[in-house]
Amino acid sequence: MFRYRDKKVSEKIVSSLKEMDLNIRLMHVCGTHQDTLVRFGLDELLKNTGVEIRQGPGCPVCVTTPKEIEEAMLLARKGKTITVFGDMVNVPGQKHSLADMRTQGYNVKIVYSVDDALKIAGKTEEDVVFMAIGFETTAPSTASAILNTPPKNFSILNCHRLIPPALKAIIEMGEVKLHGLIEPGHVSTVIGAKPYEFLSKDYGVPQVITGFEPLDLMMGVYMLACQIKNKKAEVEIEYKRSVKYDGNKKAVEMMNDVFELCDVAWRGFPVIKDSGLKLKNNFQSYDARKKFEDELKELNDVEFKEPKGCRCGEMLRGLIEPSDCPLFGKKCTPAAPVGPCMVSREGNCNIVFRYRGLA
Ligand code: SF4
Repeated sequence: MFRYRDKKVSEKIVSSLKEMDLNIRLMHVCGTHQDTLVRFGLDELLKNTGVEIRQGPGCPVCVTTPKEIEEAMLLARKGKTITVFGDMVNVPGQKHSLADMRTQGYNVKIVYSVDDALKIAGKTEEDVVFMAIGFETTAPSTASAILNTPPKNFSILNCHRLIPPALKAIIEMGEVKLHGLIEPGHVSTVIGAKPYEFLSKDYGVPQVITGFEPLDLMMGVYMLACQIKNKKAEVEIEYKRSVKYDGNKKAVEMMNDVFELCDVAWRGFPVIKDSGLKLKNNFQSYDARKKFEDELKELNDVEFKEPKGCRCGEMLRGLIEPSDCPLFGKKCTPAAPVGPCMVSREGNCNIVFRYRGLA
């Protein structure tokens, strides 16, 4: 691992970037990339190189919408057991969070995988709902669970989303001028390089699929800088020790067997075409929104608001940094978060607060 943390190599890359004399803005869509950038001070190292890096909508907890959180809470109130990944429980809803509901005695259980949720369902006759969040990284395990005929009392509140359509939306919205994309290593381990190619072909955006160690990121930045300097736009793989061009065919097959594309809203975004996954017809009995349609009806005409003053939406579109939000570190801290970007360990506000405090 330490050969991927050699500071001297990073410094050589910095010198090369300075020689290239660029003025470029890159975006990554991955909480782990942001963690590496801030934790190892790469953002500081890249200052004065002409390379700026923004975080986009790469935190699965952060992009889950207020409506989806309310759906989970309403189902808990209606007596279902809600199983959910850790950070998600602390995201503030319209009035409460799932963690608040747990302290009020509702059945909200933290799980580490869909398998944990299945085990809970196997031990009870009660309805157990798994809040299925995450990108192409977690969707295959949900698909695998569904293919293995879960118990009848199990269903999913599907909040899975896909990365390439969100990138297309960011580019088409044009709010932030981007010269290149650092693509996420784990999502790409599943889907490979091909699903990103249209972004280079149709929009002329250079892309590099990058791993998570400091030198992975620095190499990813350098490879993008070289493409930009040489006026190229293609998808390169820096993270070759994990990512193959075709990805993980078995995982993609499972996703395709179970899900079909649908249009969904992301926090901070309007509805993004084909960026969500819904269960195919033969798996509808595991769809919590279908199964508990009547219970969820009361949310149909509700307008869901973002927390007052919170700028997570702009953060997720790569428009601002945590220090641009007046609540950062004052009204909003990891102990008392206002928005999801301060809750999730993959959220930009949480990462910057954790490693830098208020500096
Ligand atoms: S500091 Fe808090 S309120 Fe501001 S954008 Fe971040 S999470 Fe939202």
